[in-house]
Amino acid sequence: MPLKKIHRFFSGNVPRVPREEAMKIFKRDHYKCQYCGLDGLESFENWMIMTIDHIHAYAKGGSLKADNQVTACQPCNTIKGTRDFNSLADARKYVQGKRAEWHQVYQDQLQAMRGARSAQAS
Ligand SMILES: [Zn+2]
Repeated sequence: MPLKKIHRFFSGNVPRVPREEAMKIFKRDHYKCQYCGLDGLESFENWMIMTIDHIHAYAKGGSLKADNQVTACQPCNTIKGTRDFNSLADARKYVQGKRAEWHQVYQDQLQAMRGARSAQAS
């Protein structure tokens, strides 16, 4: 399968935002993810995962104008997916709720792994 098709398969109908436009959005948002607050200027690794998200999903007819675009880290953008929101506040509430859910799953898994490790050690 060609790379473009694979990308489309995983990402859906994602519009390509020209770098120059993306940089304007990043600058306006101070390079911070508008969902979790991750600072894109804190490290190269953070900077590398900054994306542009469309609050009112492009796949559902959302506009490509700057007022519909926000800086989002890749994980937050993936969590939000093509879900449609009328405001940044609504989208943020959803993404932060999902992050909290996943954080709990992570904590539970970590605890289970540590429990299994210490049981092996003794
Ligand atoms: Zn984020």
